[in-house]
Amino acid sequence: MSDTLDFEITRTERPATAADRARVLADPGFGRYFTDHMITIRYSPERGWHDAKLEPYGPLPMDPASQVFHYAQELFEGLKAYKQPDGSVVTFRPFMNAARMNRSARRMAMPEIPEQLFVDAVELLVRTDKDWVPDTEGHSLYLRPFMFATTRALGVNSPASEFLFMVIASPSGLYYPRGIKPVSVWLSQDYTRAAPGGTGEAKFGGNYAASFAGQKQAVAEGCDQVVWLDAVEHRWVEEVGSMNLMFVYGSGSRVRLLTPALTGTLLAGITRDSMLKLAPDLGIPAEEGKISIEEWEAGCRSGEITEVFGCGTAAIISPVGSVKGADRAWTIGDGEPGEVSMRLRQELVGIQYGTRPDPYGWVH
Ligand code: PMP
Repeated sequence: MSDTLDFEITRTERPATAADRARVLADPGFGRYFTDHMITIRYSPERGWHDAKLEPYGPLPMDPASQVFHYAQELFEGLKAYKQPDGSVVTFRPFMNAARMNRSARRMAMPEIPEQLFVDAVELLVRTDKDWVPDTEGHSLYLRPFMFATTRALGVNSPASEFLFMVIASPSGLYYPRGIKPVSVWLSQDYTRAAPGGTGEAKFGGNYAASFAGQKQAVAEGCDQVVWLDAVEHRWVEEVGSMNLMFVYGSGSRVRLLTPALTGTLLAGITRDSMLKLAPDLGIPAEEGKISIEEWEAGCRSGEITEVFGCGTAAIISPVGSVKGADRAWTIGDGEPGEVSMRLRQELVGIQYGTRPDPYGWVH
């Protein structure tokens, strides 16, 4: 199978006007508006990946018996395109997203897509809709590649054989429009996100559907986000909302970073991986390990843990200010974002927006 395809290009006859676009880009929010075009690529066992198209953004004709509606054979990715000081546009580590999509695909019995084809598809959409990449500091164009089963069959004994891969794009504003503020988190002991042998390390829509009840409970408990614990003992910390968690120990020259190891129930975040590489180069040793809620609480009470933050493509970092569970509650720091969190954030944002050198070759 060839690693890439020629795309058939059909441009929209009704692109957004410059004035419409300017109105959207003034306050894009997140995931509310979509650009003029989308990518579609079909898969069948006979033809492999074929029929690659760039088309006007719009609804899809779908057979109601398409397997995705019934058995949720689906997965997705998320990455961003950033405007550079010279007006060019880059994406951040897109081959990592392609590789992660293929790991998800293996878990969901779906076909892998050549990494080059994934990146070509993303690039073509960004190039075509580049006027939708915001200029405003901290804004970006969010890219959503996804894939789902289109086979028309209700038989549940075998995975689908036909799939559609797509990419859509949505301008994205600041995650914290009023400045970064630490969030409060709820320790979810009633709901689990992922279990050993399950689908937690796949970026599979069902993981997110299953998480809404836990997130609702967190809000009902007066918290912003939910912390996911392991499914067996309900005490090992895994993730926060849809972010990976980072714990900062110590301060000054004795500071170090710990993040829960990838045990198969966590998503391997690309921001997480970037932090693990950036931090040591800033003199902050970083390790992957295990932390329980008891250790988290004790570490904050003794002052050993100085900062905690979630990290992901959407928010980059999201400091955690307070923790609440059924039988415990504690605070972290003084209610302001910590120094180490903000320093790591600044480094990463600098690389993404081209205001700092990129010694890692991350921007594409
Ligand atoms: N964990 C989960 C469950 C997520 O959905 C995400 C967002 N993709 C992350 C972590 C962070 O991953 P990334 O840094 O690649 O955005």
